[in-house]
Amino acid sequence: MSEHTLLRARDLTARYGAVQVLHGVSVDVGEGEMVALLGANGAGKTTLLRAVSRGVATTGTVAFDGRDITRLDAIGAARARIGHVPQGRGTFAELSVEENLRLGLMGRPASLRADSDRDLERVHTMFPVLRDMRNRPAGALSGGQQQMLALGRALLARPRLLLVDEPSLGLAPRTTAELFEALAGIRAAWSTAVLLAEQNARLSLRAADRVIVLARGRVVRSCAAADLADEAELRAAYLGTVADQQEADR
Ligand code: ATP
Repeated sequence: MSEHTLLRARDLTARYGAVQVLHGVSVDVGEGEMVALLGANGAGKTTLLRAVSRGVATTGTVAFDGRDITRLDAIGAARARIGHVPQGRGTFAELSVEENLRLGLMGRPASLRADSDRDLERVHTMFPVLRDMRNRPAGALSGGQQQMLALGRALLARPRLLLVDEPSLGLAPRTTAELFEALAGIRAAWSTAVLLAEQNARLSLRAADRVIVLARGRVVRSCAAADLADEAELRAAYLGTVADQQEADR
């Protein structure tokens, strides 16, 4: 991890009605670091991202850049420069591609307004299709193009931490590969840390510095991405704890 811890979440619990889905989750993300959040369907990845961007009520604490943000709502977290690209992309279908990107620019701090044109250009260079289709409604884009638009829009707000939820969902393998190539480059190019929830473990591990594996609302593994290359270990982590796996093997 880098020296400065940007995000420090401690003992988060969250529930939907009677069902508890996070059971005391703690995660750190360092400045400029890319952390992959892996786990099976329903493990709690989306809920953890929502907890960080304060879109879901939790117990526990969330500190961002040394400041306790537990009491902020989602708008406050966005203002604190936590960006969130939700599952399902969250673009405005009726607005044009250009208008969607301009909404992103409106979210940036006043001190970075002067860089708006340059940053828009950088998004267009990263995803040329967004320039080619800038006057089209966002709803006319393919799934992969909408994902690029959502990512571009989030980056234009200049987050210090970007939460990305399952970007590969429903995309063709080639589009997914293209997207991950872009993701791998953004933390250096945009000076942002990334917390990436994904079911595609192989691609995420290649792009990330560190990995956190969630199973049934608990962290079961947290290590350098390179240390989790072993498929058997990954599978065990997905199924639950290693002890569960040993039990199942008996
Ligand atoms: P997925 O990849 O399927 O999105 P996930 O790891 O992101 O999985 P979450 O979406 O955080 O997991 O869901 C954790 C659990 O909470 C699941 O059992 C899910 O069914 C449940 N859940 C999620 N959202 C709600 C909701 N709005 N109301 C009730 N239960 C929910």
